[in-house]
Amino acid sequence: MNHPTPTLADCRALDAQDPLRPLRELFFLPEGTLYLDGNSLGAMPRSAPARVAEVVTQEWGTDLIQSWNKHGWFAQPKKVGDKIARLIGAEPGTVVATDSTSVNLFKVLSAAMNLSSVDHPRRRRIVSERSNFPTDLYIAEALCQQHGFELVLVEPEDIAAALTPEVAVLMLTHVNYRTGAMHDMPAVTAAAHATGALMLWDLAHSAGAVPVDLTGAGADYAVGCGYKYLNGGPGAPAFVWVNPRHADRFWQPLAGWWGHATPFEFTPDYRPAPGITRYQCGTQPMISLAALECGVDTLLAAEAHGGMAALRTKSLALTDLFIELVDEHCQGHGIGLATPLDPAQRGSQVCLTRDEGAYAIVQALIARGVVGDFRAGDGQRHKDILRFGFTPLYIGFEDVWNAADQLRQVLETGEWRRAEFNTKHAVT
Ligand SMILES: *Cc1c(COP(=O)(O)O)cnc(C)c1O
Repeated sequence: MNHPTPTLADCRALDAQDPLRPLRELFFLPEGTLYLDGNSLGAMPRSAPARVAEVVTQEWGTDLIQSWNKHGWFAQPKKVGDKIARLIGAEPGTVVATDSTSVNLFKVLSAAMNLSSVDHPRRRRIVSERSNFPTDLYIAEALCQQHGFELVLVEPEDIAAALTPEVAVLMLTHVNYRTGAMHDMPAVTAAAHATGALMLWDLAHSAGAVPVDLTGAGADYAVGCGYKYLNGGPGAPAFVWVNPRHADRFWQPLAGWWGHATPFEFTPDYRPAPGITRYQCGTQPMISLAALECGVDTLLAAEAHGGMAALRTKSLALTDLFIELVDEHCQGHGIGLATPLDPAQRGSQVCLTRDEGAYAIVQALIARGVVGDFRAGDGQRHKDILRFGFTPLYIGFEDVWNAADQLRQVLETGEWRRAEFNTKHAVT
């Protein structure tokens, strides 16, 4: 680095100049907690408790069944979907907020396999990344069994070579959950298309974290998560997008009545609704959708301050700063970096490695109020990871300085060796 390492005073000055700083007020952030896990469960919007209470007491409690029309419950998945669309470069009316990421992936991957089977019957292979989030791989494995397809898992540098004429679908997560490495969406999509494969993106660690332009990239299918950077609350509905050029061509396999063209005619036969509506299955969780809308609204509030582009600029400044401070302050403690240094290849998280004690160091930090998380390595290519998410809506530069300083203290004192930090919990 060709400048002096920023001091605490420098970081405070950066916060004072930050035009996005007021957005932090949109969140409830518990006293004494420095929350760097918004990539796993986003912080709670201050608007959520009152809105959820309103849905429960007024809409459910008082207006009861009339709320389906009176409070727009039936249209809520599309209304929230349209808001999410603004964050991911999708046209209005092409996204629905519904079900979980795993379930939505099942729907779109099935549809992609059906589409490919008709257009390219000899292509019977799905390619993905070995270090993709496991649920994505499990869903793909199950569908390959059902459809007589083959799932091929490769390392990121081998994706291009894996795009052979047998490949029906390339299924990738845009930002890797474990390393924070980000794919070049337009380039990878173009490479898949050039070989005749369909492109499916999982945006779990991208939506609300980095600018995404699905339409510009010409992708085919996408899914993403509601409870991470969209701040929708635990178990929030996820979302699904299908390029309009494919949306009407196939049924998705979970052909429930909410995806029917005329659900309230109650006909015995299924007639899929046009467009993304057919990707809905059954009755949706209205209380959770209300909380998700509060979360998505926190991101739309940033539109007045430069939107996703401004959030991205700040996010990179935060992750750059953390990398630099850890490098400077934690030297000699065996800390490595798993996240790419090249900003173009980095999501909104920083993943550190250590051969020994990664889990315990994270626990010791949590005891000090610095909440990150641990992701196990695979014993081969990937080491154990200490993972820190930097949500630019509510994390500031002083927070980054404090996080790096707390990490330094945990390493220097060796307190992570204490037995209490070395007992594994069910959820890491
Ligand atoms: C978080 C995450 C999921 C979560 O799936 P659920 O169905 O919500 O449990 C799926 N895929 C990826 C890539 C994720 O990061």
